Amino acid sequence: MTDCIFCKIVSGALPCAKIYEDDEMLAFHDISPQAPVHFLVVPKKHIATIMDCTGADSGLLGRLIVCAQNRAVELGLGEKGGRFIINCKEHGLQTVPHLHIHVLGGRVMGWPPG
Ligand code: 5GP
Ligand code: ZN
Repeated sequence: MTDCIFCKIVSGALPCAKIYEDDEMLAFHDISPQAPVHFLVVPKKHIATIMDCTGADSGLLGRLIVCAQNRAVELGLGEKGGRFIINCKEHGLQTVPHLHIHVLGGRVMGWPPG
């Protein structure tokens, strides 16, 4: 998608602080971190929101979560954990319409979300 920020990051047209890349996923630090560790994992394939996924995306969604978990361990969150978040559309306050999972850690998170 030509006007999608995360597609531009995936293609290299926009820079990012890359953590990990394979043929299907890209992980990079959030530009506006909300915790000592805050990174995003995106599938390279453009999917706007989690609501746009179907059963055919089950494998990709599983690998997205496992990729996020592996990167979280590599960045030191394995022992104390953190928060894995997928915001969706208007009520979820999703601001970038390209599916991504946030991983936050390094401090205790609040609950419930505001
Ligand atoms: P959302 O609100 O869609 O769940 O999260 C989008 C996230 O992407 C936000 O946390 C925001 O800081 C981050 N973000 C937006 N634009 C950029 C960018 O150009 N580079 C990086 N690294 N993060 C971005
Ligand atoms: Zn995109």
